Amino acid sequence: MLLKDKVAVITGGAGINGLGFATARMMAEQGAKVVILDLAAADPQAAAARLETEGLGKGHLGLVANVTDKASCEAAAAAIVAKYGRIDVLVNNAGVTQPAKFLDITGADYDRILDVSLRGTLYASQAVLPAMVAQQSGAIVCISSVSAQRGGGILGGPHYSAAKAGVLGLARAMAREYGGSNIRVNCVTPGLIATDINKGKIPEDKRQGILDGIPLARIGEPADVAGCVVFLASDLAKYCTGVTLDVNGGMLI
Ligand code: NAD
Repeated sequence: MLLKDKVAVITGGAGINGLGFATARMMAEQGAKVVILDLAAADPQAAAARLETEGLGKGHLGLVANVTDKASCEAAAAAIVAKYGRIDVLVNNAGVTQPAKFLDITGADYDRILDVSLRGTLYASQAVLPAMVAQQSGAIVCISSVSAQRGGGILGGPHYSAAKAGVLGLARAMAREYGGSNIRVNCVTPGLIATDINKGKIPEDKRQGILDGIPLARIGEPADVAGCVVFLASDLAKYCTGVTLDVNGGMLI
């Protein structure tokens, strides 16, 4: 098992069809104690209970936490350390998107999109780092997006690209600063993955054109991304830090 007895925290992990829950599932299969953080409306406790119902081990935890709120992240980290005594893995997965043309982006749109992906990555990482530094070990995986690399996504607007590009920079800066504490920080950049974030939003007349741009000729599944997150979180990747792993079916070739 790649994550036996590791304590792995996943932000935005409660959506049953999302990348976060697919990662939670795979980490639990690999022996981790999984902590799912999400907004109350997403019901992280139910998501954590579901892992046990699916036979993926016991002792998982769901906590309500808003990654845009520093105190909320700190309270979650304190509760995790109180229960498990350590935090081995953080997956910065919470994110929201919005299709928009450049000139149409309002200040409120900009704040909302950057707040969740970028400020959320800052606050959740700040909350877990003291425990990781005390342990002198840890792995953080940040979910960016192909939108950061292409300067525009299929479904996300320019502010989403900016937020996800910011995540790459923040992650590399963390990797540089915390390498000496044996804490690795890496990113994955998913392409188009079938989750609720884009469900029903791909216009039928655009679908074939999108597939034509993906050498592997299919839209990704959440488990395609989860496998790469698990790899980066595990000791298989123990000499990888500051890496960006593309998970996009070859979209950028
Ligand atoms: P999703 O909507 O299923 O998951 C996002 C989760 O984030 C939800 O559970 C939501 O409740 C949670 N969330 C939102 N605001 C939050 C907050 N303030 N605090 C805590 N949690 C919050 O979508 P997904 O596709 O699974 O997306 C997961 C991540 O992957 C996101 O960062 C997204 O930008 C990124 N991504 C997705 C795709 C794709 O095609 N699906 C591609 C590239 C990147």
